[in-house]
Amino acid sequence: MAFLEPDRYFARVTRISPEDDLIGCGFTHMLLDMDNTILSRATHDIPRDVLAWLEQVREAGVSVCLLSNNWHDVPYEWAKTLDLPVVAKACKPLPHGYIAARGKIGARSADTVVVGDQLSTDVVGAHLLGMKAYLVCPLVEQDLKHTQVVRAFERMLLGARSPEGVSACEGRD
Ligand SMILES: [Mg+2]
Repeated sequence: MAFLEPDRYFARVTRISPEDDLIGCGFTHMLLDMDNTILSRATHDIPRDVLAWLEQVREAGVSVCLLSNNWHDVPYEWAKTLDLPVVAKACKPLPHGYIAARGKIGARSADTVVVGDQLSTDVVGAHLLGMKAYLVCPLVEQDLKHTQVVRAFERMLLGARSPEGVSACEGRD
């Protein structure tokens, strides 16, 4: 099931090196999930190391658009704080949100990577449009009930595959 196979799998979003894993792999554009990828479901905040990583990504010359299934005002508020474009209520894995997000930053499939913490939304949607997808471990275990059910299924699909940069998993908050 190639659609459900992430191209890379990282222990935490901060383990993605802007130079090596983004620019070095030809990715000048990134569609970035929010909930439990950069925004903790436990604290409803973006951890400080993730904020610093986001800054490094932008300094490396990668254009970022936030892409969230969140139905509330949260993505818009964070987009304003971070000064980033956003597409919320995206209904991932359906393509329209990805296409809108790509349009906002002038991205093409070949130069874009999708980064998120869920196989069935972030990764599948990326692959439907021929984009690469980096899966990350969720920042925290806490999540919406239906997401937890889906996550159990996704863990089965990942099987024994272990994320790159595992030591960061141990230190996550
Ligand atoms: Mg998420």
